[in-house]
Amino acid sequence: MKGITILGATGSIGVNTLDVIFRHPDKYRVKALTANTNVDLLLEQCLKHEPEFAVMVDEDAASKLEKELKNKASEITVLSGIDGLLKVVECEGVDYVMAAIVGAAGLLPTLAAAKAGKRVLLANKEALVMSGKLFMDTIVENNAELLPIDSEHNAIFQCMPAGFDKDIENLGVKKILLTASGGPFRTTPIEQLSSMTPEQACAHPNWVMGRKISVDSATMMNKGLEVIEACWLFHVQANFIQVVIHPQSVIHSLVEYNDGSVLAQLGNPDMRTPIAYGLAWPERIDAGVERLDLFDIAQLDFVAPDEQRFPCLRLAREAMQQGGTSSAILNAANEIAVNEFLQKHIRFTDINRVIETVLENVTQHEATSLDTILEDDKLARDYAMRSIKELAA
Ligand code: NAD
Ligand code: MG
Repeated sequence: MKGITILGATGSIGVNTLDVIFRHPDKYRVKALTANTNVDLLLEQCLKHEPEFAVMVDEDAASKLEKELKNKASEITVLSGIDGLLKVVECEGVDYVMAAIVGAAGLLPTLAAAKAGKRVLLANKEALVMSGKLFMDTIVENNAELLPIDSEHNAIFQCMPAGFDKDIENLGVKKILLTASGGPFRTTPIEQLSSMTPEQACAHPNWVMGRKISVDSATMMNKGLEVIEACWLFHVQANFIQVVIHPQSVIHSLVEYNDGSVLAQLGNPDMRTPIAYGLAWPERIDAGVERLDLFDIAQLDFVAPDEQRFPCLRLAREAMQQGGTSSAILNAANEIAVNEFLQKHIRFTDINRVIETVLENVTQHEATSLDTILEDDKLARDYAMRSIKELAA
């Protein structure tokens, strides 16, 4: 029986994780559930899954949840704040941590899971983008396990040869092909992009996801972050990874070998597949996913991405090549810009402009310590807010 903490239980990944776990009561036990502010859903999840701990980062939300649980005669311990998150990641009886908080807010608890030597199921790509080498070193130094949950990286992981953490070129790997749906604006006339609304940006054709990653898919910054994520996970340079637009989202990514073989992982676009794989690895378990019917799909298309339409792809590659804290700066600027777009303070096409300005003006440093990463994250956020105010003026 494996004890599991879910960071970000009320989000899209969190809900899907609970769905898979609930199918296997003989294998997994929910040790802790965490959320930011959504008391109603966390309460419902607590009553159904009966964890030992529930954490609400927001203090008021935590008091409210505690009161509601007491009313139901529940004995679940309610904690709050970042200290609460760290406690339920590090504590005994937790074998696996699902890192599914969105954005930089997930960095500290995700790193803590690595430090505590747990199996880290990594959905929170921003944590790895920000901390790169530091995160990967922490995994190795503490004998932790790292299983990618992002569907593309999970697919690549499934197609990689054993021992890929050493030197994949010696193992015959030539190239990683990272697939992308192209998002909701793949074919929208470029001149119309500036008037796209948050609702249009969040209407993803294949996946139902949180709002931040949905906007990232529309700008293709999601794919940019995923290139960076893949560089760290699979120990390669950015030019080893080719982005391929594949609108059906059936092939989740591919690995090309020097004998001409190209291995791919296919499946219906349903995050329960990579989640189940991460939970059960190296075994396989039922994920509740509808089976792939190739005759139903009939056709698979592939096109090269257009960097004029999607400048964020170029910005992410440049940040990765620049190294140091550049990726953390990129990520921070993106989080601010996406949030301001969701609040209708800036236009869709301002997102990449804000990020580019921040990358040009905030100096990067060697990303050797968490403090340096967090400092540059903050400088980038401040600069992004200032440049957004100038846009509005
Ligand atoms: P979501 O917005 O649906 O959920 C986010 C979760 O994080 C919620 O439970 C929320 O309570 C929690 N949270 C938000 N802010 C927080 C804070 N400041 N402190 C603590 N908790 C906080 O997001 P999602 O779509 O589930 O995505 C989660 C992560 O997984 C993201 O990093 C995303 O890039 C990644 N991911 C998601 C998908 C997907 O299909 N949804 C696919 C691949 C990767
Ligand atoms: Mg993905």
